[in-house]
Order: sequence, then structure tokens, then C-alpha cells
Amino acid sequence: MRSRKFGERKSGGKTLTKSLPKGEWSRVGNGSIADGWSAGTTDVSGPQTEDKFDLMSTPMFEIENLHVNIEDKEILKGVNLTINKGEVHALMGPNGSGKSTLAYVIAGHPSYEVTEGSIRYNGLDILELEADERARKGIFLAFQYPTVIPGVSMANFLRMAVTNTRNARAAEIEAAGGSATKMTPREFRRLMKEKMALLKMDDSFATRYLNEGFSGGEKKRAEILQMALLEPTMAVLDETDSGLDIDALRVVSEGVNALAGPEMGVLLITHYQRLLNYIKPHFVHIMMDGRIVQEGGPELAHELEAKGYELLRAEVTAGAI
Ligand code: ADP
Ligand code: MG
Repeated sequence: MRSRKFGERKSGGKTLTKSLPKGEWSRVGNGSIADGWSAGTTDVSGPQTEDKFDLMSTPMFEIENLHVNIEDKEILKGVNLTINKGEVHALMGPNGSGKSTLAYVIAGHPSYEVTEGSIRYNGLDILELEADERARKGIFLAFQYPTVIPGVSMANFLRMAVTNTRNARAAEIEAAGGSATKMTPREFRRLMKEKMALLKMDDSFATRYLNEGFSGGEKKRAEILQMALLEPTMAVLDETDSGLDIDALRVVSEGVNALAGPEMGVLLITHYQRLLNYIKPHFVHIMMDGRIVQEGGPELAHELEAKGYELLRAEVTAGAI
């Protein structure tokens, strides 16, 4: 993602560490290592001003005029989307409209070329960062589900994935003079137990071998558990059209409902309205042909279901929307 051709911008300016007096950290997060803005992190740049009110009005996650190419074909054609802490946003749209492309670009997949626009996370331009750096800052995209890894249990896989990210985060904080403890295997086991209880998952799930005969619902369970363990502040869940049986729907919705909270923003990508029967988003955005063509509250998803994408497409084409 370092191949930006247009709109290249260094995220300069003062760091938050310098611009905020001690005690102000509560404004920007809970101070846990899961927080993308943990105290002492110096490689992130805060707002360009010392005015604390400005900080409060900085959106947590802001996509502006995003244009993205895949193999020289423009897929995203100027996407604008703002997500604040505590908000659940649903992104809907017909197949091929660019929803998954947006998810991958947020996560930092290298195949996608951003030609114009920006994505800012707490004021920091994340297009400058590699995928793993984004994850350490608290951005979550469900892992690309690995194919069967013989002999690797769910617990071991998650321990590697989660301790890598969390320990790298802790190391960044320490390098910047802050204090953060690394996660030991024992601590990981305790955390996993706690999160599995929260998500009402059976203990035996952790000892299952990765992906061996997993149902759609079990794959989703693994994804949601990984999210719970990473404690992201910005979670992107791309519910692809396949594998969304009722069991999977239930797992995703119960997981999101259990994990979403005042510190977390969620972007829930779904083709179908039915997922939104279980998760009530605060905002709904509809994407068509690489643009967001309509936005509203939860009622918009129901309108869309009644109307269908084709009627909406006709209205968009006719310039009525
Ligand atoms: P959605 O998730 O809304 O179904 P996608 O983001 O997957 O849409 O796809 C958007 C468009 O980008 C489609 O026209 C698709 O064919 C194209 N596309 C997606 N991935 C690739 C790729 N790796 N190479 C070429 N074209 C792609
Ligand atoms: Mg998709």
C-alpha cells in the first residue's frame, strides 16, 4: 500500500503525546494496549493543533474521496464514509459493487492501488502503514481463513496470531517510553477462557484442529473469537455471500452484539438485509458501482429489502437519488 500515485501525504505534525497534558488521555481512549491511541505511542501523529476541542471533533475513522484501482481498472470511485467510536455501520450493496475491495483497502491488502483520497484513523493517514501496523493500531479485518493446517489447534493458531499483534503493540508502547506488559501463554489462556465465556462458546472449540471440517458457523466463530481477543477499536466484518447459513448469521450477530461497545467502531459489510434483523446498525450505507449512493438509518435496510437493488439502481441511473 505504499504505491500511492496521487494525493501522497505525509502525516506530519505534533504527536498527541506532546500536544495533550497528562490526564487528557481519557478523552481519546481507555488507555489499554488495545487502543490505537495508547499513551506513549510516538509514531502516530495527532491533530495539527493543540486545541483539545479539535481533538474531540476528529472522527475516529474517516474515508474521504477514496478511489481504488485493481489492475488499472477503477473499482472504488470516490467513497466517503465516517465512523465514530461506538457506532455500528452497515455497508450494503449488490455483488460486485466494491464492498470487499473497500474492506481489503482498509486492512492494507497490497494488491489494491489507492489513486486518490484518504483513510484517516484518529487523524492518522493509515494508507502510509503496512497491514500489520494497521492491525497493531487496532484495526481488525477477519483473517483470511487459512486452509487446513494439520496438527494446529484453534487455541494455538489464535495464540500465535493474537500474541504477535498484542506483543508488537506492547513493544511499540515500550519503545516510546510507555509501559505495557507482553502477553504470556498463561495470560493468553486466561483471556481466551474469558472471551469464550463472553461469547458463550464451548470450551472444546479451542482444542479443535484448525479448519478441519469446520462448518460455516464454526469458521465465523473462529473469526469472532479472534476479534474478541484482539480487542480492536475499528472492526471490519465482510460477510461474503457464501457461508452465511443461519448458524453463521447467529454467531456473527451475537458476537458483534457482545463485543461492540462505546470504544469500538464497526463496519459490517453485508449483501443481505437479514443480518440486520439481528444486529441493529446505527447507520446504513448502500454502495453501487464503487460509490455510496444512499445513506440513512436502520430503516434504509428494510426499504432496500422491499425495493430491491434493481429499482434502486434504476433510480440512481435516472438521477433521482
Ligand atoms: P463486492 O464485495 O461488493 O461483491 P468486490 O469488491 O468483490 O465487490 O468487487 C468489485 C469489483 O472489482 C468487481 O467488478 C470485481 O470483479 C472486481 N474485482 C475484485 N477483485 C478483483 C481482482 N483481484 N482482480 C480483478 N478484479 C477484481
Ligand atoms: Mg464481497
